[in-house]
Amino acid sequence: MKLATFTHQRSTRIGVVRGDQVVDLAVAAPGLPREMTAFLALGADAMSEAHAAAERPGARIALADVRLEPPVLRPPKFLAIGFNYADHVAEAGAERPPFPVFFNKQSTCVVGPYDPFHLPHVSPLLDYEGELGLVIGRRCRHVPRDRAAEVIAGYLVVDDVSVRDWQLRTPTMMMGKSFDTHGPIGPWIVTPDEVGDPHALELRTWVNGELRQHSNTRQLIFDCFAQVEHLSTAFTLEPGDIVSTGTPSGVGGAMKPPRFLAAGDVVRIEVERIGHIENRVVPEPENTAR
Ligand code: ZN
Repeated sequence: MKLATFTHQRSTRIGVVRGDQVVDLAVAAPGLPREMTAFLALGADAMSEAHAAAERPGARIALADVRLEPPVLRPPKFLAIGFNYADHVAEAGAERPPFPVFFNKQSTCVVGPYDPFHLPHVSPLLDYEGELGLVIGRRCRHVPRDRAAEVIAGYLVVDDVSVRDWQLRTPTMMMGKSFDTHGPIGPWIVTPDEVGDPHALELRTWVNGELRQHSNTRQLIFDCFAQVEHLSTAFTLEPGDIVSTGTPSGVGGAMKPPRFLAAGDVVRIEVERIGHIENRVVPEPENTAR
């Protein structure tokens, strides 16, 4: 099942994507929450109800007539891991890390699958990172690796947009990872039954049609389940939390010479069995209050 958050006629709600249409759950299953995090928190029963509703005819809107929003509008946590593909570790001139290197992206940086993101006033060193993201579906703590699949509601595509100088000039990467708009996610959450093995997915990133990243999630150093185990050892994971699982080689900053993003560039990231997001770089507006 593909679970989307969309806006139609000025109202934002959730639905199930079928082909080139979305089943409007506000109509097809009016007893369910209209917001993704609340929906995910209800667990398997709500998931079954949505699935049954999507099987029935009616309540369909053409995808072309809606605006796809971030599948989770404001994730409770937006975590991401650095140096998690061997080829990316090598291009960064780093050592393979003995422990997962996690950082936070602020949840305010989230934007939709086709929204623009900002070239900041304060830095031209803007870069993309195509990644597979996982979405937590159940409140959990101390999840062993072999049970991590039970707490994952689904998967989506993430661009872990990075401002390289702000990322690298301090011991923690947080500032350079959290600029407003630097968290495009989507286009929807694909449930695990449709994804199959999350560690066998092709991942590709293009800039203006030029292929820059091409890898497979089997190259992850710490896989999705190991990441859930590690994070939940320290703190509670909650429905709607997003974990972005790392980027492969091919980022602009590691090229020789580096090739950073400029205003007008279009970044497209595609993950097999999930879909793609596509986001244009725009200059940071003078007034960033959104
Ligand atoms: Zn990243």
